[in-house]
Amino acid sequence: MALIDSYGRKINYLRLSVTDRCNFRCIYCMPAGGVDKVDHHDILSYEELLLLARSVVPLGIEKIRVTGGEPLVRNGIIPFLSQLAKIPGLRQLVLTTNAYLLEEMAQQLRDAGVQRLNISLDSLREQRFSEITRGGDLRKVMAGIHAAEKVGFPIKINAVAMRGINEDEINDFAAITIDKPFAVRFIEYMPTTKEEGWQSRSISGEEILDRINARFSLQPVVRGEMAGPSRDYKIAGAAGTVGVITPVSGHFCSECNRIRVTSKGMAKNCLFSDKEVDLKPLLRAGDVAGLQEILRRIVIDKPGKHIIVEQASERKPFSMSKIGG
Ligand code: SAM
Ligand code: SF4
Repeated sequence: MALIDSYGRKINYLRLSVTDRCNFRCIYCMPAGGVDKVDHHDILSYEELLLLARSVVPLGIEKIRVTGGEPLVRNGIIPFLSQLAKIPGLRQLVLTTNAYLLEEMAQQLRDAGVQRLNISLDSLREQRFSEITRGGDLRKVMAGIHAAEKVGFPIKINAVAMRGINEDEINDFAAITIDKPFAVRFIEYMPTTKEEGWQSRSISGEEILDRINARFSLQPVVRGEMAGPSRDYKIAGAAGTVGVITPVSGHFCSECNRIRVTSKGMAKNCLFSDKEVDLKPLLRAGDVAGLQEILRRIVIDKPGKHIIVEQASERKPFSMSKIGG
C-alpha cells in the first residue's frame, strides 16, 4: 500500500511530536518565556501515539521521526520507542534531539531500536551556544554526542545558519566532517517566531555552499533511496558529509514525502499550512478505519508548495517546538 498525494508524491514519512516541552529555549524556536503549558489531557498518551503509528504504517509510512519539543524530556520515552521499533513494516525509526540528555540516554536509545539520531547544534562556542539556546550547556551536549558515537549511532548534526549569529562558524562545522563520519547539514533559518532581527537573519543554502566551497572543495554525493531533503557533498578525503536543507529557498516541496502529527494529535500536511486536523477523537475512540480514512484525505489535500517567504510578514508567529520542526 502507498500513500500518494494529488501531485504524485509518495508520502512515506511521519514526523511524530511527543511533547512541546523543552529544556532549551532556542531564539528561533521559542519565545524567551517559553510556550504556554498544555494541559496533560490534551497531549497524546503513549498508547494513543502507538495506535496512530500502528494505523499509519500499513498505509505506507515507512519512516517515523520522533521529535518535540525535546523528546528526551518526556517520561517513559524509552519503553515507548521500544514499542514503536517493533511495529512490523516500519523500516526506519529515528529521533531528533538537542543532545542535552544523550550522555545518560544514548545506550538506552540504541537498545530501544532507534536507528539514527539527528542532533541540533548551532554553535561550537560555549558562550554563543548558551545565548542561542538561552542557557544550554555546550559541554553537556558535546558529551552527549560523544556518548551517541560511542554506542554506535550514525549521527547527523543539524545547524540552523543565521546571519550575524553563527555564520562565521559555517566552515568550522564543515571541518568536523573531515575526521568524523557525521552528516553535518545546515538548515535555512525560517522566520517562524519572528524574534527581534528576524528580517536580516536568513542565509540561503546556495550562499552556505559557496562559503564552504571557497575554503574546501565539495563533491556532490549520490542520493540514497530514503534520502531526506538535504543536498549532500563531501570534502575531498573526508570521513563524513556536509549538506544543506533549504526549506525556504526551494528544492524541497517537490520532493516532500512527509506528514506531521503534533503532540496534541493535530495532523498537518505542510509545516507552513494553517490547516490542522484533530486526530484525538478518533484515537480516543480507537477508530482505526476512521483514522486511516482521515490520514488518506490529509495526504490527498497536501499542498504542492508552501509560500513561507511571500507570507512571512502577514503570518502570525509560531513556535516550531509545538510542531516538531
Ligand atoms: N528539540 C529537538 C531539537 O532541537 O533537535 C527537536 C525539536 S526541534 C523543533 C526540531 C528542529 O527544528 C531542530 O533541528 C531545530 O533547529 C529546527 N528549527 C526550529 N525552529 C527553526 C527555525 N525557525 N528555522 C529553522 N529550523 C528550526
Ligand atoms: Fe527546544 Fe529543539 Fe526548539 Fe531548541 S529547537 S527550543 S532544543 S525544541
